[in-house]
Amino acid sequence: MALNDDLSTLREIGRRHVDDLSSALPAGGESPRGSALVKLVGEALNAMTLALDALPGEFASAQDDKDREAVVEKARGYTYQLRQLHMALPWVESASHHHVSQGTVLLFDAMAEAMLGVAADVIPTPNETYMYAVRAKPFRSAFVSVKKPYPSLSPPVIVYYPAGEVDSVFLHLIAAHELGHGAVLERDLIQGVKTAHGDLTPVYAKLSDAANALHNATALDLTLATAEVTRVFRNWLEELLCDALALSYLGPSFLLASATFGVQFSGSTPGSSHPSNAFRTHLLLEQLDAMGWTSEFQEELPQVHSWLADIASKPMDPSAGAHYEHIQDALDLLAATIRHVTDLRDLAFTPNAFTDRAELAELISARILPAQLLNGKPTRRRSVIYAGWLHAFGEAGDHAANLARITADRSLQAFLTKALEMSVILQKWESV
Ligand SMILES: [Zn+2]
Repeated sequence: MALNDDLSTLREIGRRHVDDLSSALPAGGESPRGSALVKLVGEALNAMTLALDALPGEFASAQDDKDREAVVEKARGYTYQLRQLHMALPWVESASHHHVSQGTVLLFDAMAEAMLGVAADVIPTPNETYMYAVRAKPFRSAFVSVKKPYPSLSPPVIVYYPAGEVDSVFLHLIAAHELGHGAVLERDLIQGVKTAHGDLTPVYAKLSDAANALHNATALDLTLATAEVTRVFRNWLEELLCDALALSYLGPSFLLASATFGVQFSGSTPGSSHPSNAFRTHLLLEQLDAMGWTSEFQEELPQVHSWLADIASKPMDPSAGAHYEHIQDALDLLAATIRHVTDLRDLAFTPNAFTDRAELAELISARILPAQLLNGKPTRRRSVIYAGWLHAFGEAGDHAANLARITADRSLQAFLTKALEMSVILQKWESV
C-alpha cells in the first residue's frame, strides 16, 4: 500500500509541475526570440504527461515489490526532470526582456550559427556569477528519460554573461568559446581530433607517462590514475577546441578578450578542468600565427604581443601535479590537429577579411557609426570589433594594463554595438 501511495503522490506532484509550467509559459507568438524554447518545453511537458499516465499500468503489472519500487523510482525521476524544466522560466523572461543591446544579440546569433552550424534561438541571460556560460539544447535528459527524440527545431541556446557586463561587447566575445562547447558536443570534435590526427602512439605514450607520474606521486593505483589522466586530458582537449573555434571565428579580438578574462583565473597553474592560462595563450598565439595574423598584430600592438608571448613561455608551476606536464605535452602534440578540426574555413576571420581596416579606423575616430562602407556595403561585424579594439588601444596606449580601461569604456562599446546592429539592418535591407 505504501508504495502505491508513494506513486500516486509523486504523480500528483508531477502533474502539478506540468500544470504550473504550462500556465507560466507564454502562449507563443509574442516574441520570436524564445519561441523555440517555449515549444521545446511544451513538448517535454506533453511527453512527461504521457509518461506519468503510463505509470499506474506499469505498477499494476509489476511482479513483485522490487519491480513496484522501480516504478516509484521512475516517477521520482520524472519529478526531477520536471523540476529541471523550471529553469526555463527565467530564460523565457530574458528572451522577451533581455538587457543587452540589439547589436550584442545579433552578434551572439551570428556566433551561435557559426559554431553550431544552424540558426539557433539564442537567449542572453544575466549570470549572478561573474562568468560566461552557455547551455545549448537544454533538457536533453528529459527527453532521454521518456525515450523520446530531442525535437528538431532551431535549438534553444542560453548565453549567460556576467550581470555587470551588459554593455561590454569586447568581453562578450568570450561567449564564442562557451558556444564552442556546444559545437564540440554536436560535431563530436573530440573524436574528430582522434580521426584526423593519424598516428596517436606518441600522444598515448605521453598519457601513459602522465598516469605513471600520478600513480607514483599518489596512492592511486595505475587503473585509477589512468582514468584520472584520461578525464583531465579530455577536459583540456575540449577547452582547447573551444579556444581554437573562438579564435578561428573572431581572430585577434578573441585573443584580447581571452587575455583580459583568462589572466584573472590562472597563470601557469593548471587545474583538472582547465589547462593553465599560459598554455592556452601559447596555443592561441600559435594559431594566430597559422591564421596569418602575427605580423599585423605585432605591428599594431607590439607591447601587448610581447606580454602575451611572455605569458605563453612561462613554464608550468612546479607545484602543480607531476602528471599535468605530460598531459600538456600530449596536447601540444595535437595542436596542429586541433587547429585543423576547428578551422571554420569560409567563416574564419582572417587578415584577408580585414581589408576595410583603414576606413573603419577613420569612421570610428570621427565617431561616425561604422555601419556602412564608402562603397555602400554594410561593414563586417568582426572587422568593426577588431577595429574598435585597435582604436581603443590607439587612444589608451599599447599596454596590457589598458585592457582594463578599454573593457571599462562602455560608451565606445555601446557605439560599436550600435554599428553592428545598423550593419545587420543594412544587410537585411539589401537582401530584400
Ligand atoms: Zn570552456
